[in-house]
Amino acid sequence: MRYASLASGSKGNCHAFSDGDRTLLVDVGISYLQIRTRLEALGWDLGRVQAVAITHEHSDHIAAVPVLLRRTPWVFLATADTLTAIERIHELEIPPSRWIPLRAGQPADWEGWRLLPFSTPHDAVDSVAYRLEAGGFHGAVVTDLGHPTALVADHCQDLDLLALESNHDVQMLREGSYPPPLKARILSRVGHLSNEASAELLGRCLSPRLRAVVLAHLSEQNNEPDLARFAAEEVLRGRATALQVAGQKDPLELADLA
Ligand SMILES: [Zn+2]
Ligand SMILES: [Zn+2]
Repeated sequence: MRYASLASGSKGNCHAFSDGDRTLLVDVGISYLQIRTRLEALGWDLGRVQAVAITHEHSDHIAAVPVLLRRTPWVFLATADTLTAIERIHELEIPPSRWIPLRAGQPADWEGWRLLPFSTPHDAVDSVAYRLEAGGFHGAVVTDLGHPTALVADHCQDLDLLALESNHDVQMLREGSYPPPLKARILSRVGHLSNEASAELLGRCLSPRLRAVVLAHLSEQNNEPDLARFAAEEVLRGRATALQVAGQKDPLELADLA
């Protein structure tokens, strides 16, 4: 199994998983052109992409949906409320043939992979994170949550790979230039995970099999990759787990995950 972050941050998010035969994207918050360009830069075959699992309806996760509907045969996996929100935001209809309905907390079989959406505390209609199990590989993409919950930690046990939000440094955010309401939203229990909160959650998701952690959805204004990294390194000290930071501009790939 291979994993890639094609883009990660408030300007657009897109993760990819591939077993060589089929590729699944998680979120499509960058343009179709960027999805193609970045997959090609990593040497991934665009023709293997079959589906997109959507976490929630914020634009940095769904921006490419209208173009993908027109230009690709890809199907969308999403909960009913999230699908309805996407249709409303983009003023379009996603035909039933292009939608695989999901329910938070219920595993779905997709092409022999087990995809489990689980609820995250975030200010969207039905925000979820994903656990993915495929051919002995266990991975999870967990971004856009205001605080670590027991439910999230429960779904992040026994993973090979964890892509985990580490959005902001609380002090940088507090002292930064964002307007007070936006600061309050990000800091709220349905906003985004600080480096501290991310590290705390990571500490609850450790297991001997955890091979790689990718810190994701970093704020370009209110964080520094080194600050996010230091917080996670504290938790991972003494372990063989690889630690990477996903960025907004450059794709990142991890191969041979299982
Ligand atoms: Zn986001
Ligand atoms: Zn969001």
